[in-house]
Amino acid sequence: AFDLHTFNSGDYVESVRAQTFAENISKVLYPEDSTPQGKELRLQQQYFFVAASIADFIENVLPDDFDLEKLPERVIFQLNDTHPVIGVPELMRVLVDEKKLEWDAAWAITQKCFAYTCHTLLPEALEVWSVDLLGRLLPRHLEIIYRINDDFLLEVRERFGDDEMLIRNMSIIGEHPFRSVRMAYLATVAGSKVNGVAELHSQLLRDNVLKDFATMWPDKFTNVTNGVTPRRFLRLANPDLSALITEALGAGWTVDLERLRGLEALADDADFRERFAAVKASNKRRLSSVLEARGEQPLDDGHMLDVMIKRLHEYKRQTLKVLHIVSTYEGIVSGRLDVDEVQARTFLFGAKAAPGYGMAKRIIHLINAVGEVVSADERVKGKLKVVYPANYNVTLAERIIPAADLSEQISLAGKEASGTGNMKLALNGALTIGTDDGANVEIRGLVGDDNFFLFGMSEPEVEALWAEGYRPADFYQEDERLRSAIDLIASGAFSGGDRTVFEPLVSNLLYEDRFMALADFSSYLDAQERVDAAYADQDGWVRSAILNVARSGYFSSDRAMRDYLDRIWHATPVS
Ligand SMILES: *Cc1c(COP(=O)(O)O)cnc(C)c1O
Repeated sequence: AFDLHTFNSGDYVESVRAQTFAENISKVLYPEDSTPQGKELRLQQQYFFVAASIADFIENVLPDDFDLEKLPERVIFQLNDTHPVIGVPELMRVLVDEKKLEWDAAWAITQKCFAYTCHTLLPEALEVWSVDLLGRLLPRHLEIIYRINDDFLLEVRERFGDDEMLIRNMSIIGEHPFRSVRMAYLATVAGSKVNGVAELHSQLLRDNVLKDFATMWPDKFTNVTNGVTPRRFLRLANPDLSALITEALGAGWTVDLERLRGLEALADDADFRERFAAVKASNKRRLSSVLEARGEQPLDDGHMLDVMIKRLHEYKRQTLKVLHIVSTYEGIVSGRLDVDEVQARTFLFGAKAAPGYGMAKRIIHLINAVGEVVSADERVKGKLKVVYPANYNVTLAERIIPAADLSEQISLAGKEASGTGNMKLALNGALTIGTDDGANVEIRGLVGDDNFFLFGMSEPEVEALWAEGYRPADFYQEDERLRSAIDLIASGAFSGGDRTVFEPLVSNLLYEDRFMALADFSSYLDAQERVDAAYADQDGWVRSAILNVARSGYFSSDRAMRDYLDRIWHATPVS
């Protein structure tokens, strides 16, 4: 705390040093971790939140005379991703060092008090902490992790024999490229259950990411498909649609979202369709005012609102979206496309990049550069517009989602764990153009193929293309539309003639393209042509939009919570 004595003696900086240091730990959630200092702060923060939570529960929530052997009957800590996994050795430390339990008794309790939700399929997103850093900051925790690992690897040997390769692969301690603690493995070993966040994701965890663990403990693995809260993302965000739904179905649907099924019959009612379409149009006008008030461009009347709103990441493939925009623009300008045949669209992006993610920032630059050129070009005036409001966040999402016509869910198959933006948009009557990835698979299964624009490779097809050797330049050679789009970016057309600006981005696409945007490009453009044709039939489009709302009740977070209760916590809800 503030040191009055030091302050009085004139050392003003030193007098607040301790307090500033302490406050830095929780000042910014998830500090940037591309530097060693950032990494250290991040681990300090993770430990701070977790230790405070566990101490609060044990010291303040539990009665003084609570028998800790019964802790699993009283609480389960759901590890939401790897960020709180340091809680496992922390609970062991509290039970063994502070509460003086025997190791085996403490471990039996700890294993029942944790479960782990994995949220990713990208290996680089699975956290590891270097043994150096962890041992320096939290030496006792490292000691506890080593003992957990020793006991665990003994169990592996008992089950599978002395298979040293398997032992190395399953060890909580990784050796390459440096000695480190694999937090996802620690969570998997410690947790009573491990779940993915969509059917496909949970399957890929069992088959690939955590395969050996799934072989050892098949019953440990389960799925809970994510959900979104209908109170915020429908009732609060879309009051006009909510009023229409309440008029049709009566009150109470926000806590029993499967009741939206009752709207199915109304999809064929011309009067209802007209009112539904009027709500969408009014939501677009409201969004346009919100954008103008933020100093952004307003929306054009009569445009399809085509939205891609999500964190900026290469696996989500905002570049694929840009290639579609550039290709359409180039097609109109070169005469390859008949301008009268092209549906007028506003492309709306919402995305932030992580502060340390350089390629994501280049993509943001490209989207803005393309937007400026396209929006200013008289030849496509009234046809194409790109809007990229600053500071995309939940508040803005609540305005965009009710206004959206088309929901872009275009990640490479096998990379998006679930997605929840896809659910919010379907629930508000946007049609999805999407790959067979994450919860898109389940959305398509529920809304039906006629009301969803599927494109791109499936996850097994992606694997097969990698295995045979992926050469993105081949796809560039094969599709003229793709060649023209990439050439236009490379020519400097969006960078005032400077060819160097987007060169790193273009060569990354042509010679690496980790997320196979080029391989899926042709299929994506074909699907966008189907979108244009479908949108030209407004009656049919609105019918599909209503069916999207009617059939998305499954994606309520209430259903997800019930799944956690039934499959993982084995608890009953409080009525
Ligand atoms: C829902 C939401 C997300 C998640 O979007 P995805 O498309 O699932 O990645 C991200 N940011 C904000 C502000 C959201 O509301």
